[in-house]
Amino acid sequence: MNFTLTNEQTAFADAVGKFAEKELKPGALARAHQSTYPWDVAKKMSEQGLLGITFAEKDGGQGGTLMDAVIAIQEVALRCPKSADVVQAGNFGPIRTFVEYASDLQKEKYLADLLAGIKIIGLGMSEPGAGSAVTELQTSATKVDGGYLINGSKVFSTHSPEANFFLIYVRFGPGVEGIGSVLIERESEGFDIGQPSAFMSGELWAQLYFENCFVANDMVLLGPGGFKKQISGFNVERIGNSSRALALGRYAFLQAKEYALTRRQFGKEICEFQGIQWKFAEMAVKLDAAQLLLYRAAGSAQDGLPSAYDTTVAKYMCNTVGFEVANEALQVMGASGYSQESLVEYCVRRTRGWMIAGGSLEILKNRIAEDVFERRFNQRA
Ligand SMILES: Cc1cc2nc3c(=O)[nH]c(=O)nc-3n(C[C@H](O)[C@H](O)[C@H](O)COP(=O)(O)OP(=O)(O)OC[C@H]3O[C@@H](n4cnc5c(N)ncnc54)[C@H](O)[C@@H]3O)c2cc1C
Repeated sequence: MNFTLTNEQTAFADAVGKFAEKELKPGALARAHQSTYPWDVAKKMSEQGLLGITFAEKDGGQGGTLMDAVIAIQEVALRCPKSADVVQAGNFGPIRTFVEYASDLQKEKYLADLLAGIKIIGLGMSEPGAGSAVTELQTSATKVDGGYLINGSKVFSTHSPEANFFLIYVRFGPGVEGIGSVLIERESEGFDIGQPSAFMSGELWAQLYFENCFVANDMVLLGPGGFKKQISGFNVERIGNSSRALALGRYAFLQAKEYALTRRQFGKEICEFQGIQWKFAEMAVKLDAAQLLLYRAAGSAQDGLPSAYDTTVAKYMCNTVGFEVANEALQVMGASGYSQESLVEYCVRRTRGWMIAGGSLEILKNRIAEDVFERRFNQRA
């Protein structure tokens, strides 16, 4: 068992770190307070080969591993927390499920623009009546000549006010076996996007409405029975969420460390107080533990898709630790940490969301408990 990065991985981390230090760190604060997608960053990352890191070279990717993508997203997040969203969008998010299952035609149509950083894909899974119980989704795909008519609505989709097209989970028939997915372009007839609302993090989302929206047969990503495959792809999204949560916790930790080393009260640096030292000791242990679980999950990937159990454990730990450490770091920095002049309060707001998004902490614990007891517990009434 090896707990350190290889020489190649260390060299890659250094290269991404240098790029992020020069190109992304300046402007990091302003970027965090912009609700829009940083398209300029996306283009720079594309030029740098940071979009499609794990995708096959024949698909325009870099042919790297999931661990490489985790290294990249962390190195970026440690210099510019918001820019890590671009690494997510170009490697871990719905783009990953898309590249796994898309037909050659679908890839030809969309992938080049996604990897060039000039287009973005959104994910429509959650519905007003189906959040944690995602398999209760109602958005229907009804067979008609040449394709399907889509009816229903989706909520909370990341990047929905700007996404060019969406991967939409739909119901072709009853039960889990009836669930699959389709690709729908923003301008499609019968597809409306509501007014944007803001999350606590400042991110915008808009409700998606489908009313007899026609989707041609060649825009089906996964037909009936596709749900399990979609969730395998979604586990990569969870690794991206875990990586960002942990990296934002570490970002706040490093800011707080600098503050504790320089801020003087009662005639000495505040790091001299044991009450402050113990906070840092606890934060350091939590960060280390979460980091190892994250690497275990990323390292577990077979053909790029990580183990469901390892991913669940890593997400639970990274989401919890990311938020707890960011929050404690803010406390160490007093009013300076609470002020929007520092990125630490942003890290607290962002890490809070990942405790809900992509499988809430409670749902993750349900899944872990099933492994503990080697039994499935039916959550339904
Ligand atoms: C920042 C952010 C980004 C998101 N991005 C997307 C996106 O891109 N696409 C998309 O489709 N969705 C997205 N979502 C939605 C997200 O997937 C849902 O919020 C999540 O699945 C939880 O659903 P819910 O919010 O409806 O909560 P609910 O399902 O209503 O749950 C409410 C509470 O009850 C708990 N709970 C529910 N069932 C159980 C149970 N069986 N046992 C114990 N506790 C339970 C939950 O953990 C939660 O605390 C995003 C959400 C956030 C916050």
